[in-house]
Amino acid sequence: MSTLHEADDVSRGTTSPAVLKAVGLTKHFPVRGPGNRVVHAVEGVDLELQQGRVVALVGESGSGKSTVARLLAQLLTLTKGEITLDGTRVDAHFGRKFRRYCRNVQMILQDPFASLNPIHRVRYVLTRSIKIHHPGIRRDEREQLLGELLTRVDLTPPERYLEKFPHELSGGQRQRVAIARALGANPRVLLADEPVSMLDVSIRIGVLNLLRDLKDRLNLAILYITHDIASARYFADRTVVMYAGQVVERGPSEDVTQRPAHPYTQLLIASAPDADLLGERAEGEARGEPPSLISPPSGCRFHPRCPFAMERCVTTAPPIFQVGEGQEAACWLYAEDATEERRAAFGVSA
Ligand code: SF4
Repeated sequence: MSTLHEADDVSRGTTSPAVLKAVGLTKHFPVRGPGNRVVHAVEGVDLELQQGRVVALVGESGSGKSTVARLLAQLLTLTKGEITLDGTRVDAHFGRKFRRYCRNVQMILQDPFASLNPIHRVRYVLTRSIKIHHPGIRRDEREQLLGELLTRVDLTPPERYLEKFPHELSGGQRQRVAIARALGANPRVLLADEPVSMLDVSIRIGVLNLLRDLKDRLNLAILYITHDIASARYFADRTVVMYAGQVVERGPSEDVTQRPAHPYTQLLIASAPDADLLGERAEGEARGEPPSLISPPSGCRFHPRCPFAMERCVTTAPPIFQVGEGQEAACWLYAEDATEERRAAFGVSA
């Protein structure tokens, strides 16, 4: 009998309840030195992860997306906000509660070279995960599970890989071992923080396809963090765009990438125009530099870089506006009283 859960009998779809939900996620990091200054790393982020679905969290370096992943993984404490797992509020940063949480929510890190200890063989890495998350498992069951985990990530036959050290594996194989280690917990949620950005371009698609296959077969909820909005279109059902610690746009990936509503999303896409070049571009660069998060710009945080900035953009932060079916953007261009000229200049319909 397989020890990993299968998804065949589990209903999927956009209406399924969130397994992991964040409301008003906020994280401030204190700054050393005089005064009570803080880095406003994440501010008021709402996020929902459903089983069998992928949500991409997209933005430049420093936009706060990795901090969101660490908050969801309970590796950082919240300044404000709430995280719920199956509707129950979670605050589990150590001990038994944390281990129980980790059985449900696992993280895959960007760098498979750093995330695997070079002195341990694959067998040790996976056995440790199994022992932590399946205490009391019999030896024969453990051996079976070792084989299943490697087979799940397409490292077959398993015997070929079990006794290898990380340095004997390619980057893609190491990331597959890291994914197998995460699956050892039999999780329902994977937080994948730039899981392919350190890999050769030629093997990125293979690892993303593996994650997509695992999502379907194991009914996983996946948060895919990336700076590459083209790969979000390819891989994710929904895309959430972050800028300077805040969500500026969210919606179905097809809509957000094909009909971006927010000026920042437009600039990200303009810097990454060809989805066929998945992962080949440098980090998406918008015009100018991201702002300081110690004293972020007033009003809309994007206003110093925005070609459409208006007076109120400087003074007042925009609320989230509905801009299409399931698509939302935090931008004053979508306010009812935005001038026709501005709408026309930006190609926004009334
Ligand atoms: Fe630009 Fe204003 Fe929209 Fe911000 S609110 S993105 S500054 S138009």
